[in-house]
Order: sequence, then C-alpha cells, then structure tokens
Amino acid sequence: MKYFSLNDRTHNSSFENAVVRGIAPDKGLYFPEEIVKLPQSFFKELQNSDKFQIAFEAIKGYVGSEIPDADLKKIIETTLDFDFPVVPVKGNIGSLELFHGPTLAFKDVGARFMAGSLGYFIKKGNIGKVTVLVATSGDTGGAVANGFLGVDGIEVVILYPKGKVSEIQEKQLTTLGQNITALEVEGAFDDCQSMVKRAFLDDEIKKKRQLTSANSINLARWLPQMFYYFLAYKQLANKGQKLVFSVPSGNFGNICAGMLAREMGLPIDHFIASNNVNDVVTQYLETENYEPKPSIHTISNAMDVGDPSNFVRILELFDNEFHTLKNHLSSYSFGDDETRKAIKDVYTETDYIMDPHGAVGYLGLQKFLKDHPDYYGTFLETAHPVKFLETVEGVIKEKVEIPESLEGIMDKQKKSLQISSYEDLKGYLLS
Ligand SMILES: *Cc1c(COP(=O)(O)O)cnc(C)c1O
Repeated sequence: MKYFSLNDRTHNSSFENAVVRGIAPDKGLYFPEEIVKLPQSFFKELQNSDKFQIAFEAIKGYVGSEIPDADLKKIIETTLDFDFPVVPVKGNIGSLELFHGPTLAFKDVGARFMAGSLGYFIKKGNIGKVTVLVATSGDTGGAVANGFLGVDGIEVVILYPKGKVSEIQEKQLTTLGQNITALEVEGAFDDCQSMVKRAFLDDEIKKKRQLTSANSINLARWLPQMFYYFLAYKQLANKGQKLVFSVPSGNFGNICAGMLAREMGLPIDHFIASNNVNDVVTQYLETENYEPKPSIHTISNAMDVGDPSNFVRILELFDNEFHTLKNHLSSYSFGDDETRKAIKDVYTETDYIMDPHGAVGYLGLQKFLKDHPDYYGTFLETAHPVKFLETVEGVIKEKVEIPESLEGIMDKQKKSLQISSYEDLKGYLLS
C-alpha cells in the first residue's frame, strides 16, 4: 500500500516512512491510495474468528509486506490484550466500552499499535533512534507513555500543562520512568502544543534527534482504531437491525477510522459525530461552511478541539461530496449542563455510569434515535468514568469504584521536569 499526502496527490510514501514521519513534508495528512475491500469470506467467518484474526485481516492490506505477518500478529496481540464489550444500557442502546486498557481510555489501542510498528522498524535497522515528542491535555500522554514504555530505540518526551490534567492522568504520565520523560509546563495545553510544533521545525534539534509525533494524525495511531468497529459488529450482527454508532469526537480520528471500516464493507448504516460545544463539524454539516474556532474548555476536555485535524480524511473518504457525506454522517453538539444531566439520568434509570465523553456520545445517539427508532444504536464509551472522578462523583453523588489496575499508581512517586519556555524545552532536547 502506498500513501499520498492530502496536500499533494503526487507525493507518495511507504507505510514505514509515513509512520516514522507522522506527517508528509508538505504538512499534509497521509491517506491510503486505495481503500481495502474485505472479501465476503471475511464476513462469513467473522463469528468464528477471534479478535486477533479479525484485526489482522482488517489491517493487513494497509501494512502490506512492510511488517511480516508473524510480527504484525505479535503487535496486534499486544495491542488488543483486553476486552471490548458492547454493554446493553437500555432499549435499543448499547455502550461500546473502550476503556479496559492499561490507561483506561481508547487511545491505548492506537498508542500500542504505533509503539509496536515503530519498534519493529527501528529493530530492523533502517532508522536510528527516535524521539517521540508529544503534547497532551490528558489522555494521549498516558496512553503514549504506557504504550512506548521499554521499547528499544525510542525515547518519549511528554509535555503537559501544570495543574490542568486530572490527578490520575498526571500519575499515569509521571511515574513510569525508564525511557519516558514528563515535562511539566508552566502554561496551558496550547502552549505545550506550540512548543512541540516549534521543536519539529528547529534545525538544531533535528540535527541532534530524529523527532516524531504520536498524535492521531499518525497512520499507526489512526488505522488500528478501525478494530473497535469490527469487534463491536461481531457482537451486534445478531440484532438484525440497522446499526448506528455515535462517536464522541475531538480530533475526529476515531470516527474517521469507523467510517473507513464502513467503506471496507462493514455493514454500519450511519455515524453520529457527537460534539461538546466545540461544534465546528456540527456547524459544517448544517451550513457546508468549515470554520475553525479557538477551543472552549469543557468537562469532556479530550474533545476541546477547535479545528479537528482528521476531518480532512473524512472529506477524502467521501470524495469531498457534501451530500453523500450527509447521508452517512449526522452531528450534534451539547453543553456541559446537558452532559451532566445525561450522566445523572442514565445512572438513575439504569445504574450505568458514563464518563463525560461517553455521555456526549449518548446524547447524540438519543437525538438520532428519536427520529429513527428502527435502528440499534451504540455509543462509544471512550474513557472510564474514574478518569473524570470529580465531575462524575459530583453528579451521581456516589463514589465510583477504582479499578484494580489503578490501585498502586496513586502511591507512586511523581517525577517531572518543570519548564516554562521554549528555550527550556530546546535545552532539554539538546542536552
Ligand atoms: C481523545 C479522546 C476523544 C476524542 O477522540 P478523537 O479521535 O480525537 O475524535 C474522546 N474521548 C476521550 C476520552 C478521548 O481521550
């Protein structure tokens, strides 16, 4: 499989090069030259296949021979080493729980797959040591730190805004040690982000280190997210109803992977992009006018994105045909008060506890189903409610149980370096 840049169709790249670079030299996102169409036999065998086989068949065409089958299978086994259940919530609504991984958010899958792929290419010896440099507002950092921990040839440097991530998130970033370094930045997430961007353009740093990014524009983080939809479909196929998925969206990587799965032949009828008040895409589908805005802080903070980077990939999937896109994608936006009320109502009615991101997904689904009662709807529960303890406990007025996997982390010693300027970051990367 070759990949082109969405800024320049004549540019082409191997999978390896695209994963190592993250983004094309012209700053375009990489996109596959062909969408893999899965054969009938794949769907016939689905119920008898395990999650590793399903994932392998789904992604193999995108990796080609660049990672040998045996190694790709090993990477997938590590990536999917936990469960992806669809839990019935009520009536024709289920929750696809994507939070059973080590850092309790869906980003574990992409981070682990990317660590495995990059680790393989380094071991093969074509590329030297790599520094993964990443800014986080919370979940990305933990998943990346955990996924890349102990991978030979990779050093991970994570920037996070001091005092602006939850206590659990900070522990996940700062207590691992080994090849992971956490830089605690005096400033906001946007400051972390702009320091990272500047470092990528800095020749002095580039002479000293091979930098790559681990955000969702990287193919190796984006593509494996299609697994969720195949694994959910296996559990939903016997419903005998049309299927709709509601995806709480920020940078639109997750939903775009779902829509890619659909183009590959997975029978999902419709998608809903559920947004908080950062509603660029909701507005776009109403007006056909794409207008980025500065992001607004909300309680579903992983979706506080004013200019979602992966949306161009969705447009490309539909050949930029607005009306075709609208037939397959709806989008709604909800404020924090509605989100809190949804958490409370669903808990009161069913005992099911949603995190603020899942709750936005639930709201979008509920709205769609009102006009389309013949569908079975699934919302993606993208993080465990315990990651947003204050909000969730404040709403349901009860303690949320802390999963076993997290016990222990709270007692570990935080280790971070404090920085307050780009010069500090540069000094660290050159030292
Ligand atoms: C990152 C994240 C999202 C948004 O996913 P995108 O792929 O960026 O749209 C939603 N929920 C949680 C909990 C996240 O961490």
